[in-house]
Amino acid sequence: MEFVPDICFVASEIYPFSKTGGLADVMGILPLTLHKMGYKVSVITPLYGRISTSAYNPRLVYEDINVGYPWPGVTADVLRADFKGMPVYFLDRGEYFDRRYHYCTYKGDYFDNCERFIFFCRAAMALIKAIGKAPRIVHSHDWHAALMSPYIYYQRRTDTYWKNTSTVFTIHNLAFQGRFSVRLFWDCGLPYEAWGMEGVEFYDSFNLLKGGITYSDKITTVSPSYAEEILTPEFGCGLENVLQKRSKDLVGILNGSDYEVWDPSRDRYLAAGYSSSDLYGKQACKKELLDQLCLSEKLLYRPVLGFIGRFRSQKGIDLLTEIIPDIVRQDVGVVLLGEGDAEYEAKLMNLVEAYHGHVAGIVGYTEEMAHKIQAGTDIFLMPSRYEPCGLTQMYSLRYGTPPVATAVGGLKDTIVPYPAEHSTGFVFPEPTTKAFWNAIQNALVLYQDTESWKKMVVRGMQTDFSWTKSAREYVELYKQIGYVLDEEV
Ligand code: ADP
Repeated sequence: MEFVPDICFVASEIYPFSKTGGLADVMGILPLTLHKMGYKVSVITPLYGRISTSAYNPRLVYEDINVGYPWPGVTADVLRADFKGMPVYFLDRGEYFDRRYHYCTYKGDYFDNCERFIFFCRAAMALIKAIGKAPRIVHSHDWHAALMSPYIYYQRRTDTYWKNTSTVFTIHNLAFQGRFSVRLFWDCGLPYEAWGMEGVEFYDSFNLLKGGITYSDKITTVSPSYAEEILTPEFGCGLENVLQKRSKDLVGILNGSDYEVWDPSRDRYLAAGYSSSDLYGKQACKKELLDQLCLSEKLLYRPVLGFIGRFRSQKGIDLLTEIIPDIVRQDVGVVLLGEGDAEYEAKLMNLVEAYHGHVAGIVGYTEEMAHKIQAGTDIFLMPSRYEPCGLTQMYSLRYGTPPVATAVGGLKDTIVPYPAEHSTGFVFPEPTTKAFWNAIQNALVLYQDTESWKKMVVRGMQTDFSWTKSAREYVELYKQIGYVLDEEV
């Protein structure tokens, strides 16, 4: 018989197998933390093309499982890999997932994304059924997996298999809702009553994320501040009223950092290791980064600012590109890594050309460069307009690169702002170039005061964002909706 999990995660990304952003990082560590705490956990995720599972020895465990009504004859294969002792199930159907990218190409979203992720959830339901005993908790993430909750909600009414299964849905970013044409609702297999204001309908469109919010027993998001923000029109992306109705069941649990992956004392990508008690290696990392990016040697003794993230207005990339010329005038370097809107990619390339030697830009997605920039820069920039949690500022704190960030969402919850006595970074009140510029100036002034700067760096590096505390909060939440450890039954 297959392994029977008590807690089953369903998500479209999991590091190190697949990743486009923070969701993958969370999935690569939260389930594993629970597994290490002794809980019976598994993860279900798509088998994309170009992902490397070979190191984890995947094997075919189910062939052609039927995803059921209303998709007769449509089947999925299931591979199971052993990820550090925890089973990860990969749902395989080449026509949906064997593609170069996960969700979109540079031309835009894949036209069949709705169909792909209906399939994903239906196949996950079929897999859980095939395992032979339903988990107590199905914990799904973001719009791609959001249909798990309505499926289980309606199945519980008619199929005793699901009667003890409760659902949790985590919102990693409310802006990505998976909104599709009403026509596609008829393909998803939910009953007619799921269509409507109290269901998955949202202004005549089929809104998958809304399904997750409406039908889950508990809803979480990734920081306490974001949990409050999304109840307001400013941050609610149109769903604030839907969320307000569920506010009793909504909780913000702060993400953590995976220090096996993000720790400068044991980071395989770095030229030299370093820690809060021995910072010497950070300068070697900076030198390597400057050399690799053909930046001026002089910058070794001047502050270099780093940015890693999607080039979208959410991340405030427009604010940054606007002030780069003024920053550079102060004999300061800037390194950016990201991809996204073509407009910003082009702007960045122009800046690199105009300020050769002081500005470096890498357009693309490279895990290695992300680590090198965290280590090799002095100050980390995050001028986000909203930030559900943000992981890169947590990494920058651990890498001794104090962040300059907007006071929103998880940024507010993770950075102690200067000039507080125990400050770890700089925050500014609203996403304007003026406020951002002022905060950068404060950072540059403190940088000159070597002693005070070092103290801030060390405090940031010693701040602990490990997952254990947050994982315990999830367990408490599971218990509120009926999760009981087998030994306690
Ligand atoms: P989001 O989930 O909104 O993208 P987070 O800060 O929560 O933002 O997580 C971003 C994750 O993605 C981090 O691990 C960061 O290092 C990584 N990342 C973002 N852009 C790139 C890129 N261009 N290349 C490599 N890693 C990236």
